[in-house]
Amino acid sequence: MPEPIHPLVITDLHKSFGDNPVLRGLSLTAKKGDVITLIGASGSGKSTFLRCMNLLERPNAGEIVVHGESIRFKETRRGREVADHRQVERIRSKLSMVFQNFNLWAHMTLLANVIEAPIHVLKVPKAEARARGMALLERVGLAERADYYPAQLSGGQQQRGAIARALAMEPEVMLFDEPTSALDPELVGDVLRVMRELADEGRTMIVVTHEMAFARDVSSQVVYLHQGRVEEAGPPSQVLDNPTSPRLRQFLAPKH
Ligand code: ADP
Ligand code: MG
Repeated sequence: MPEPIHPLVITDLHKSFGDNPVLRGLSLTAKKGDVITLIGASGSGKSTFLRCMNLLERPNAGEIVVHGESIRFKETRRGREVADHRQVERIRSKLSMVFQNFNLWAHMTLLANVIEAPIHVLKVPKAEARARGMALLERVGLAERADYYPAQLSGGQQQRGAIARALAMEPEVMLFDEPTSALDPELVGDVLRVMRELADEGRTMIVVTHEMAFARDVSSQVVYLHQGRVEEAGPPSQVLDNPTSPRLRQFLAPKH
C-alpha cells in the first residue's frame, strides 16, 4: 500500500530572525484527524512555527508539504522567497489560522467576515456563501449575531466567529495560536467546546495552547518545544503525564 497523502508534512524547518535562530530543525506530520498541541515556554518558537506553516513567515530552510503539494521556494538576493505567489493563497486557504486576538475585520459584520474569503478566494457564489456562512454561525452559536460588527461582540463571540471564518474555507488543517489566551476566564469554555467538537468531527488541527486539560483530552500528539527544537513529543499520556525531559517536567509543574 502506498503511503496515504497526509494533510501536512514538515521536514527540518529552520527560521532565523537576523542572527537569532528561532526554529532549529522542526519536523512534524499531521495525519488526517490528528489534533497536535504545541506547548512550550514563551519565546520557544510556537507562533513562528505556525506562521511558517501558512507562509506568514518564510522559513530559511526545510520542506512544507500540504496535502501532497510541496511549497516551492526560490533563493533571491533578499533571501528565500516563495516561488509562486498564487501558491501562497492556495496554501493559506488550506491551512486556516485562528489567532489569539481574533483578527476579525472591524469594518465588516460577522457574516461578511465569514463569507469574504469563500467569495473572493474560492469563488463561491454569494447566495451559497451566505447560506453556508449562516450554517457555520449557527454551529458556533452565533446565528443571531450575524449582522453585528466585531466591536459589538464579546471576545469569546469574536473568537467563535473567527473559527467560523476559518471553517468557511473548508481547510485541510486548522491552525490555532493560543485561541483562548486573550479571553476572560468565563469565556474560555465556549471556545474550547467548539474546538472539541471540531476535533470530535475528525478535523485536523494544530493548536498552540496553555490549556492542559484540553491538550490531555483532545490531542493525538503533544509536542513540547524548547528553543526552536522538539524536546519531547508523543501521546498526551506520555508527554503530559510521564514526561522524561526534566525541563518539560518543570514546565508542567504547578506554578505557585
Ligand atoms: P512563542 O510563540 O513560543 O512565544 P515566538 O515564535 O513568538 O515564540 O518567538 C520566538 C522568538 O522569535 C522570540 O525570541 C521572538 O522574539 C522572535 N521573533 C518572533 N517574531 C519575530 C519577528 N517578526 N522579528 C524578530 N524576531 C521575532
Ligand atoms: Mg506565541
